[in-house]
Amino acid sequence: SKSKGRNRYEFFSYIIEEQAIEKRRILEEIRVALNEDQFVLYYQPIFDLDGINVSKAEALIRWQHPQHGLIGPNEFIPMAEQNGLIEDIGNWVREQAIHDAAQWYYMSGQIMQVSVNCSPLQFDRAGQWVDDWILACNKQGLPRDTMVIEVTENTLMDPESPIQQQMHRLSHNGIDIAIDDFGVGYSSLAYLQRLDIDILKIDRSFIQHMETNESSIALVRAIITMASHLKVQVVAEGVETTGQHQILQQLSCDYLQGYLFAKPMPKEQFTELYITPLTS
Ligand code: C2E
Ligand code: CA
Ligand code: CA
Ligand code: CA
Repeated sequence: SKSKGRNRYEFFSYIIEEQAIEKRRILEEIRVALNEDQFVLYYQPIFDLDGINVSKAEALIRWQHPQHGLIGPNEFIPMAEQNGLIEDIGNWVREQAIHDAAQWYYMSGQIMQVSVNCSPLQFDRAGQWVDDWILACNKQGLPRDTMVIEVTENTLMDPESPIQQQMHRLSHNGIDIAIDDFGVGYSSLAYLQRLDIDILKIDRSFIQHMETNESSIALVRAIITMASHLKVQVVAEGVETTGQHQILQQLSCDYLQGYLFAKPMPKEQFTELYITPLTS
């Protein structure tokens, strides 16, 4: 009946309105968080194949919320991407990560390569963001190959987009480029070569299934073989078991990241565990 239809309409519009209010509330909170320094970067070490030496780290954002405690990126990054706030978050992450990398560099006299996740939605068409990266490194006196920008495959695939050209400019200026979650998207060998990729990060889903699924091993082996021909470094993501570690050793993967070795941790803890101060 008519009245039933109307009720249903009202019911849904009520929910949609609630969601809109909830969204607006969270966005407002993100603005406050940026102003009041509630975001923090955690760092997860990336190990050499031996699982002992650490020469890289991935910066992963967290929200230290005054009421709700520590909130992971999956709970606010997607929303920030939809509403343009990702640009402000991205700027904050860039400055903080470069600041931390520079501090480690001056403390130890050695490069700890720091990678930063970048959403395609934070790249402007004019490419000002590339200059921001270069300037920020220069300002800290940091060798630019200390920094790595992680993007997913699909970010790079559209030849019409200005992103490919911007990536070239980054890499021409010494900043490294990593492809995140490699294997789940659509990149081809040709792209890898043309785009001057430095690092491939094999998606956790393949690593996870290596022990039970021959075809996952075959795939990981193929990626590692291809990458070594292209002189691209390979990081295995999400290594959780010694069995996976052993397989990756047999396959001569370059680098390992995962809970088996270390979880993401606050900067202070990373410094204590993995940065060796210069002795005077
Ligand atoms: P990602 O770039 O693929 O990062 C790896 C995620 O896997 C991290 O989750 C990390 O904590 C988790 N991880 C690492 N080792 C293991 C493991 O052995 N097992 C399992 N199950 N998980 C592992 P996190 O920190 O929650 O980040 C989630 C995603 O949020 C990231 O995925 C990245 O896409 C995004 N993200 C994080 N920080 C930033 C940022 O600063 N900017 C942007 N745009 N995105 C970010
Ligand atoms: Ca990543
Ligand atoms: Ca390079
Ligand atoms: Ca990843």
